[in-house]
Amino acid sequence: MSQSGDRLKAVYDEVVGRNPGEEEFHQAVREVLENLGPVVEKHAAFADTALIRRLCEPERQIIFRVPWVDDDGRPQLNRGFRVEFNSALGPYKGGLRFHPSVYLGIVKFLGFEQIFKNSLTGLPIGGAKGGSDFDPKGRSDAEVMRFCQSFMTELYRHLGEHTDVPAGDTGVGRREIGYLFGQYKRITNRYELGVLTGKGLTWGGSQVRTEATGYGLVFFVEEMLRAAGDSLDGAKVVVSGSGNVAVYAIEKVHQLGGSVVACSDSGGFVVDEDGIDLDLLREIKEQRRGRVSDYADARGGKVRYVEGESIWSVPCDVALPCATQNELDEAGAEQLAGHGCRVVAEGANMPTTPGAIRVLRDAGISFAPGKAANAGGVATSALEMQQNAARDVWTFEQTEQRLGEIMRAVHDRCLETAEEYGSPGDYVAGANIAGFLRVAEAMLALGHV
Ligand code: NDP
Repeated sequence: MSQSGDRLKAVYDEVVGRNPGEEEFHQAVREVLENLGPVVEKHAAFADTALIRRLCEPERQIIFRVPWVDDDGRPQLNRGFRVEFNSALGPYKGGLRFHPSVYLGIVKFLGFEQIFKNSLTGLPIGGAKGGSDFDPKGRSDAEVMRFCQSFMTELYRHLGEHTDVPAGDTGVGRREIGYLFGQYKRITNRYELGVLTGKGLTWGGSQVRTEATGYGLVFFVEEMLRAAGDSLDGAKVVVSGSGNVAVYAIEKVHQLGGSVVACSDSGGFVVDEDGIDLDLLREIKEQRRGRVSDYADARGGKVRYVEGESIWSVPCDVALPCATQNELDEAGAEQLAGHGCRVVAEGANMPTTPGAIRVLRDAGISFAPGKAANAGGVATSALEMQQNAARDVWTFEQTEQRLGEIMRAVHDRCLETAEEYGSPGDYVAGANIAGFLRVAEAMLALGHV
């Protein structure tokens, strides 16, 4: 191993030692450090790795109790988290996730990824993530509201439009952002629109924020295909998940001439060779809070519903994992390679395991990591902050055009940086190095703080 490799390995070992049991966080750190060798060799400022060690340590970690009362009057208890990872480029920015799997290691992995993603957008936003092990599934609106109010009653003191600006993520949509914002407004007595993003259109939200992650992902894929002399027109696409990211990725693929033939939830997946009927899927997921199995029932014999198997067994040209972390493993990657898939781009955060990435690379499949490909969500959150600060409202077309420009710039930045640092065509190396360089330069300028 090279000297720089040894030094980066020592940083990784220290991260593992200081953060025991946080496997997802270790994985996220390792994936970045693995690409920093050429950077450490080229720039004397990073050679002793002191800045890299600092980058791996969150600036602040907040863990708090969230007591609330359910509809039957029974006391309930959850744990809340906010990891304010890095503010060298701007206020902490990153979503809140409500899901039973949430613990400190998940929040730290997401917060760490967010630093590089936000840096890559070129916008002035730092990196953070938060959430709770609360499960909104099966809870009434009133229960969700009481939970959100209790969560914000503790978190509000750490937030502010110039300090820390959360948004949604899995389990946190417009409903939850509304309850959180309402409680913040009540406690602080301030109509501080820029403190949360993902708001409703009548109360400070931005056009295209709901669609942004899915749309941005597909804009990125379009650029990947264009760089390879290819296009989405007529392409067969598989999208995992059927939540916010997945639904709008499906919509944009269809608008650009591709066809999404399969999508999923944690229960199973559907294959609809005519192309997923998005109006029907949206009605089932959004109006009825239903399952993809309900989609299959509604479409009758025309579609196949499969439980307990991998969605990556469905043949496609382009695969977009948009559900959750580590959902595409080596076996899934081998299935994709086996049937000639050409592009994999991550809509979710870290859905592809390191082993699967190796398989895709060996098979010559073009692969884009989430920190680049799904940056459209946070980029549009930053556009929402811009509008809030200027007390302005942009049109859908204006905002979508800006999103498209940002995604094309992120794409080009990844490819150019990969080329410059000796890994042409490698989006993972390009994203990690370009994301690192911008935030590292700011950290150097701000001193050892
Ligand atoms: P949602 O909660 O809206 O949707 C998640 C979807 O994934 C649901 O359909 C869920 O199904 C499905 N899912 C969860 N686990 C599995 C599994 N093991 N197998 C198959 N499907 C599964 O979340 P989002 O769409 O907002 O987020 C999805 C991913 O994208 C997350 O990794 C998130 O961090 C990332 N992301 C989101 C952004 C955003 O703007 N929303 C921005 C950037 C990244 P079920 O209902 O059964 O649980």
